[in-house]
Amino acid sequence: MVDCLFCKIIKKEIPAQIVYEDESVMAFLDIKPVNPGHTLLIPKEHFADMDSASGESLRNIVSVAPKIARAIMQALGYEAYIFSTNNGEAAGQEVKHLHFHIIPRAKKDGHLPFAQGTYKEGEMEEIAEKIQKQLK
Ligand code: 5GP
Ligand code: ZN
Repeated sequence: MVDCLFCKIIKKEIPAQIVYEDESVMAFLDIKPVNPGHTLLIPKEHFADMDSASGESLRNIVSVAPKIARAIMQALGYEAYIFSTNNGEAAGQEVKHLHFHIIPRAKKDGHLPFAQGTYKEGEMEEIAEKIQKQLK
């Protein structure tokens, strides 16, 4: 049995501001929001990350995410949202129970600072080929 913060929230052993719950998923406010209303959407079944999650748990998450995101936007007056997961430590994952961030955004917020680069001549094709091979 893993000692997991989010499993404890699911079992109501640790308090959280739960905004949505059904038999397979739970959504609650992130304690350190990027914007007020920033919500974490998680499967009730414990999976460390997206790579180890079942297809069914991912389908359950994706099928409720837009409804929750719209509720956040409408309740709090936002016009957009980011839906994302940090998969693995190098991507910034701190809690090892799969979770998706729903981060409400307003026009004035601008874009999150991901610096985008460019490819050298031929590099894009090479990289696409490597990924395609892995997917075969
Ligand atoms: P990660 O960096 O793993 O993608 O995101 C983990 C998120 O969980 C962070 O945004 C962090 O603020 C949030 N978090 C960490 N501990 C707690 C907690 O005890 N309660 C709630 N509601 N959120 C938490
Ligand atoms: Zn867990």
